[in-house]
Amino acid sequence: MKMKPVVCKFGGSSLADGTNIMRVCEILNANPARKYVVVSAPGKRYSGDIKVTDLLYACYREAQEGGDCSQTFAKIRKRFTSIVEELGMDSFDIKSILDATEQEIDERKSADFTASRGEYLNARIIAAKLGRAFIDAKDIIFFDEKGAFDEKRSYAAIEQALQDSGDAVIPGFYGTDAQGNIKTFSRGGSDISGSIVARAMNAEVYENWTDVSGFLACDPRIVNNPQKIEVISFKELRELSYMGANVLHADSIFPVRKGDIPIKIKNTFRPMDAGTLILPSKKYVAQGNIVTGIAGKKDFTVIFLEKSMMNAEIGFARKVLSVLENHRICFEHMPSGIDTLSLVIESRYLSDGVLDQLLEEIRASVSPDYIRVLENIALVATVGHGMASSIGTSARLFGALSEAGINVRMIDQGSSEMNIIVGIDNEDYEKCVRAIYHQFFVSGAGQKQE
Ligand code: ASP
Repeated sequence: MKMKPVVCKFGGSSLADGTNIMRVCEILNANPARKYVVVSAPGKRYSGDIKVTDLLYACYREAQEGGDCSQTFAKIRKRFTSIVEELGMDSFDIKSILDATEQEIDERKSADFTASRGEYLNARIIAAKLGRAFIDAKDIIFFDEKGAFDEKRSYAAIEQALQDSGDAVIPGFYGTDAQGNIKTFSRGGSDISGSIVARAMNAEVYENWTDVSGFLACDPRIVNNPQKIEVISFKELRELSYMGANVLHADSIFPVRKGDIPIKIKNTFRPMDAGTLILPSKKYVAQGNIVTGIAGKKDFTVIFLEKSMMNAEIGFARKVLSVLENHRICFEHMPSGIDTLSLVIESRYLSDGVLDQLLEEIRASVSPDYIRVLENIALVATVGHGMASSIGTSARLFGALSEAGINVRMIDQGSSEMNIIVGIDNEDYEKCVRAIYHQFFVSGAGQKQE
């Protein structure tokens, strides 16, 4: 039987300089199944350093403002020239490639094209170092007329190109739009490129190599040394990354998830660490923990609406949501009661008088008896498949919050029963995460009783 390949993606810190790239080459050479590699642009070498992608965006802005970005491009040139030197690639003509790139940036005057060159240049160097084919993402990843990823066209092109090429290196982060121009994903998008390649090649696993040994049960800046998550399902991961746990780009889950391909998060600097295995539902076996992880975000606004007999008023919610739609604002949650409905919205969408405008339009549209606004709200999600089958989970969660003296301003339980989201004051955020972590993770408190 033909062996399924492993698709690897390496992030910017794993590829920040020649020494790190050597490490990456060793990891790749250690397993012949690691056939296809997606790479980011060189990231930070030390805190305070600037990522190559940020330098490229700066280049674009300078060219827009003053017509010339040669000084910033000189820094980029230096980064790549040092990498080639550190890798001992004396015969690799990086100068000509950089000259051509600088000229193209100048001619095309496109932010996306300019930003994509970090991945492009890094992939050219790494392909040459490994003696693998370089496959340009522009020829295999496509976007449609609406700017959305074009699955059909891309998967066919990737399969064809990579089958022909054998082991290959592919730049992450970009592809080609319907007009034939270079278009990038959002920041951190090489994770998406890796997932797309893994799906197209029906990989055994998508290995995402970064600078941490996988997901932690909560933010280590809030809880000291939290537990590692060894296995997590796609659904749990989706909830946690949506709520701010950001090891992986949130959109990178979708391609592999559709193909039932597991993701493994690995640490380039500690390759022997187990990392985190992310499994599709079909392959996921509950791990015995009630809670898998806790994540959250600050700075939300909650608009509470109250109206007697709201439940009998046909179209009430639709009218309220139309007001948001007209302002092109999305809501995060919409908990409701018999005569009440709340909208939880990121506060950044409501500045500069937008909140007042919304309230006025909601009043005009549905005449609520009462409207109240709560600002500076943080949301904390407690996530785990184990919660649905464990009696008393919410009692423990709310008990812990009450013991910590935290006032719960809003509660929302997802219909999957695998998450409980609480809204609290911004200032209680860290205390809330600690209280929940302590309740479910400290001294084996989160294990299910068999
Ligand atoms: N280099 C791009 C960024 O910094 C994309 C990536 O690394 O995933 O956002």
